[in-house]
Order: sequence, then structure tokens, then C-alpha cells
Amino acid sequence: MSSERRMFIDGEWADARDGGRIPVFEPSTGAPLASVPAGTEADVHRAVTAARRAFDGGAWNGEVPPRHRAAVLNRIAGRIRSRAGELARLEVRDSGKPLGDALAEMDEAAFIFEYYAGWATKLAGEIPPVGPEALNLITYEPVGVCGLIVPWNFPLVMAVQKIAPALAAGCTAVLKPAEDTPLTALELAGIAAEAGLPAGALNVVTGTGPEAGAPLVAHPAVDKVSFTGSRDVGVQVATSAAATLKRVTLELGGKSPNVVFADAEFTEAVAGTCRGIFTNQGEVCSAGSRVLIQREIFDDALEALAAQAARIRLGDGLDTRTTMGPLVSARQRDRVMRYIEIGEKEGARAVHTGSLPGEPELAGGYFVPPVIFHASSHDLRIAQEEIFGPVMTVLPFDGVDEAIRLANDTAFGLGAAIWTNDVRKGLRVAKAVRAGVVWLNDTQAAPSEGIWGGFKASGVGRELGRQGLEAYLEAKQIHIKLT
Ligand code: NAD
Repeated sequence: MSSERRMFIDGEWADARDGGRIPVFEPSTGAPLASVPAGTEADVHRAVTAARRAFDGGAWNGEVPPRHRAAVLNRIAGRIRSRAGELARLEVRDSGKPLGDALAEMDEAAFIFEYYAGWATKLAGEIPPVGPEALNLITYEPVGVCGLIVPWNFPLVMAVQKIAPALAAGCTAVLKPAEDTPLTALELAGIAAEAGLPAGALNVVTGTGPEAGAPLVAHPAVDKVSFTGSRDVGVQVATSAAATLKRVTLELGGKSPNVVFADAEFTEAVAGTCRGIFTNQGEVCSAGSRVLIQREIFDDALEALAAQAARIRLGDGLDTRTTMGPLVSARQRDRVMRYIEIGEKEGARAVHTGSLPGEPELAGGYFVPPVIFHASSHDLRIAQEEIFGPVMTVLPFDGVDEAIRLANDTAFGLGAAIWTNDVRKGLRVAKAVRAGVVWLNDTQAAPSEGIWGGFKASGVGRELGRQGLEAYLEAKQIHIKLT
């Protein structure tokens, strides 16, 4: 049954000022799941004003003792852990992903809060040596009010990757979740309030990109914007934020290469290559969607990839037999189906096309079968454009130099996976690939203690790890004359 949710502004549940609502659908059936307020500029303004007040008034900023900030973050983590099963099921129903993946994401969301709780008490300044006549102090201060905008593929984790370091740093925030998947972010707002986060420190405004996201980016009282989403919207965000000289972090798209050398551990590389693109229905920014295979093993690998993909079982994410769920929305399903048609028209050969679920109750779901294309050229659109669905494009290569050239022949630079048993060759390619995240004999690992972000059109700045915290800090120099 569909439920009506409200957004969270200044410590209270709220409707949109003009009363508008957005329906949210369950991807496995296409049935209505909930509705959320269609926030607009007026609601964004209310939320930003609350965040500004919390920051400037001292309810939550850099003066709040770090150990208190850490305690609140740890309590949020504890509440996420104790409600992980319920939150994971909500995430499945909202986004379509398999339950096992959603449970792992809840665990990671809790860990990210714990990780940044630890940083809150350990973020020390520096004293650079400037000679006997002065003392020079470098201190770190929160950047201020942050506008955080996230997509729908990892709804809670993407939000937490921004919220946790922002709060640890002493910033306040307004989060705008994706209109397709706003439900776990709203739960998080309630959890944070129960954990003792003061009113205004974290606000969640639901709504569309143009109506709620754009005014948040443009708002003059917002100091920093952190955006995860598509390249094209990222350009709009950067352009709009420039007018008020906001700090900006952008996590954008990818067309990541997955390079398999003939000397790789064959079974491991085939399983990893499939995992690299088919995890989360291919709705992963760093998905290994461009598969490059050394010619000596090309035919065998293609056959093995098709056999591996044939084991994928599509279904409702809540069904524990499901290994691939539906795409997030009818719009995304149609977009991916269009790319499959484009691939066929471009002359790519589909060496595998999976089956849709047979259950009649899933007939209205947004399912797309996994597809493996053998591409005739690296210039095809399916080899260059981000599809963001379960579509693998495979091409042969001949040697290390060609592997590097093809891996870098893209506008993007987010991830790259390399499969080889020759460590020197693997490291040579890892160094030469222009990407922010490189995996050697692995794929898609994204430990929150590491860093995340892209080269080239894949973004600006880094999330996670210490760099993810620095994105929410301003450095200040205090110079004291001693003589
Ligand atoms: P999107 O760019 O359409 O939307 C992302 C978010 O931005 C949503 O909340 C949306 O409402 C909002 N938005 C849309 N227009 C806006 C505007 N004009 N101003 C402000 N906000 C606006 O992307 P999507 O389709 O939701 O997500 C898929 C994209 O996200 C893919 O390109 C994927 O690669 C990327 N992504 C990147 C990463 C990363 O870490 N690099 C992670 C996940 C997803």
C-alpha cells in the first residue's frame, strides 16, 4: 500500500509549501509505493535558513566539542545497525536492488558514520616552521552550510558518504535525494534527530532536480555543494555554483575499462568481469562496462562470460534467489533498452541476452535482461557512452600498449579493473590509466577508508577517507609575531 511521507526541515516533518507531491514506484512491479513532497525553491529556502541558523547560532559547527560530534555520529551508526534489516528492505522496494546488496550497504552506511566519528576527534591542525620570530598555526574549520545532491543507485550510502564527513567537520547540511529513491534518506533524517543531532543540522528536501536541486545549488547562503550524478547535470551544477563561488565536489559518470590479459587467472577474471558490470543491475558509476580482452583468449573468454551471465537470475530484490533486480524506473529501463537497440543497429553482436522473470506479478516491473555485446569497433556509441544498465561491451586487444590506449580512449576517468598474474605489467597499466580508482585482480571494491572520485569528465574532488573530510573544511592560517 502506498504511503505518504513528509520531508524534514528544521527538526520537523514538513509538506511542500505549495502542497505538491511526487509518486514513488516499486521497480519490481511498477506499483505505487509512496509519495513524497515535491519541494520547490520556497522549501529549499526554509531548509537552508534552518541550516544557516544551526551553523551560525552554534547548535552545530566547529565549536561543538569534537567528542560530542563523534558521539552523535556513533549513535546514528548504532541506530542504522539496529534497524538495518528494515532499512534494507525499504531500499530494495524503493530502488530494486537485491536484498543481500542492500544489507551490505546498510552496514557500510553505519560504518561510514563510525569512521568519520573517529576523525572528528583526530583532526589536528599544523604548525609550520617559520623561524624564531613568529608562530604560525594552520587550523581547519567547517566550510559551513552544505547542499548535498545524490542519485538513485545507492540511495542511502551515497547520501551518507556526504552527510557523515560534513557533520564530522562541523558543517550543517541540506540533502536533496533522487526523486526516484527518497525513502531511506527520510528515515535517516529521523534517525539523526533521535540520535541527538540538533534541529537544522541535517535537513532533507525531496523534489525534482530542476525544482529542488537547482535552487539549492544557486542559494547564496549555501557555502558548498557536493553533487553525485550525471556528467551533464554536473556541468550545470558547476556553472550555477560558480556564480556565488561555492566550493564544489562532483562525482559523475564513467565508462570504465575492464582489461583482461591472457595470463590472468581465467575463472577469477571471468567472474570478476561479470560482477564488474552486472552488480546492482549495472547501475554503478564505476561499472566495468568496457571489457577489453587480449586476443589470445578472446573467443574462450567471450564464451565463458556468456556462460557466467546465464547464471544471473532476475527477480524481485526481496526474493533471496534473485541475483539481479529491476532497474530503478521506467525511464531508466527505456533508456537502457534504447542503447541495446543502438548496439544492434551499430552492428555489435549480442553474444548473450538473459531472460526476464517469468512471474506474472513482476510483469509490470522495470526489468532489463543482461546483455553482452561483441563490438566491432571502439568508436561505437555503446563503447563510449555511459549506459548505466546491465550491458557489457567487449572488444579484443593485442598488447600492453594497445590495452592502455583503449583503456584511456574515453571522456571519463572513474574506474579501471586490470586482470593479470604479471604484477609488473599490472602496475605499469595501473599507473598509465587515467582513472581515479584502479583495481588489480579485483573490481568495484570501494572501502570507505580509501578514496573515491574521478579524473577527466568523471568529476572534481574526492570523497571518502581523509580527503572526503577535507572536502568539508576550510584551512586557516593564524600568524603570531613573537618579537
Ligand atoms: P542525475 O544527474 O540525473 O541526477 C542526480 C541528482 O541530481 C538527482 O537527485 C536529481 O534530482 C538532481 N538533479 C537533476 N537535475 C538537477 C539540476 N539541474 N540541479 C541540481 N540537481 C539536479 O543522475 P541520475 O540519473 O540520478 O544518476 C545516474 C548518474 O549518476 C550516472 O551518470 C552515474 O554515473 C552517476 N553516479 C556517479 C557516482 C560517482 O561516485 N562518481 C556514483 C553514483 C552515480
